[in-house]
Amino acid sequence: AGPLDKEQMQGLRGIREFLKVRTSYDVLPLSFRLVVLDNDLLIKKSLNILIQNAGIVSAPLWDSHNSTFAGLLTSTDYINVIQYYCQFPDQLNQVDQFRLCNLRDIEKAIGVVPLETVSVHPMRPLYEACRRMLKTRARRIPLVDTDDETGRQTVVSVITQYRILKFIAVNNEQHTMLLKKPVGELGLGTYTNMATATMSSSVLDVIHLMVKHNISAVPIINKDYKLLNVFEAVDVIPCIRGGAYDELSATVGDALSNRAEDFAGIYTCGEDDRLDSIFDTIRKSRVHRLIVVDDDSRLKGIISLSDILKYVLLYGEEDDNIRS
Ligand code: ATP
Repeated sequence: AGPLDKEQMQGLRGIREFLKVRTSYDVLPLSFRLVVLDNDLLIKKSLNILIQNAGIVSAPLWDSHNSTFAGLLTSTDYINVIQYYCQFPDQLNQVDQFRLCNLRDIEKAIGVVPLETVSVHPMRPLYEACRRMLKTRARRIPLVDTDDETGRQTVVSVITQYRILKFIAVNNEQHTMLLKKPVGELGLGTYTNMATATMSSSVLDVIHLMVKHNISAVPIINKDYKLLNVFEAVDVIPCIRGGAYDELSATVGDALSNRAEDFAGIYTCGEDDRLDSIFDTIRKSRVHRLIVVDDDSRLKGIISLSDILKYVLLYGEEDDNIRS
């Protein structure tokens, strides 16, 4: 191992130590907004609430009959409803009447394995929340506190992979600056069997692609493999506004042209870029993933936030640790 490898390992260790001495609570901003939805709400109505609250793409669910936390609503749930609609097209009336508490039944009906409903206590080490995320493939985890005396639960907030990586970027520059190995050399991300689509693909085709590959973003390319845009799982939400499932036959081009004004944008990097500069980008901007392109903006690969989190937490650890 050269000096660069040594430094890289030193940076990774520093970040891991940092995550062990901070809690999930530390990641939360001083003031924030949390939208919690009642489990009895019509799914159709939940869509409007997410669309009206720009920037919110998920929400903890609350069972008000039992006063308990009932899981986390994400764009995957809407994709499940769409799959249900595709499998049972003559049941549109029923789909219209589905409530959030029916989401588990929908999963069963279409035969998807339900995502484990994980939550963490806000005062546990952040490192634990990260490991839990990687283990369950959850992209976001609700922070749930339980009152010792009454046993009552409170949903404090939701932490996401982006928030954790940004927390590292902002508070741990002395370690992120040591990560100087090119991402291409690290093999960080995915570079083969890329799932892609074109502007004229239908939204429904892209959704099926996301389901098949278990991914949340599909690069949109032209015939020369040049990157034009990225269709994300959250882009599905405005497409089915008001329960209009028949509009899913629209093209990706049309759907993307209706994106909200405040769309965070698409971030790209090259194979020679290094994690230190990716952390700089994360520090400054709301990055969801990085698309790897060459000098002619041709698609080479994709680096998801989970790829980064996995590398930062697990690279060079004992195999045993990785499995636990
Ligand atoms: P999110 O992007 O919402 O944070 P995630 O980090 O789990 O979720 P996914 O996009 O679901 O990322 O990616 C899971 C894995 O699949 C990653 O290793 C990523 O490199 C890879 N991947 C992501 N998008 C594609 C794609 N379009 N084609 C091939 N592989 C992909």
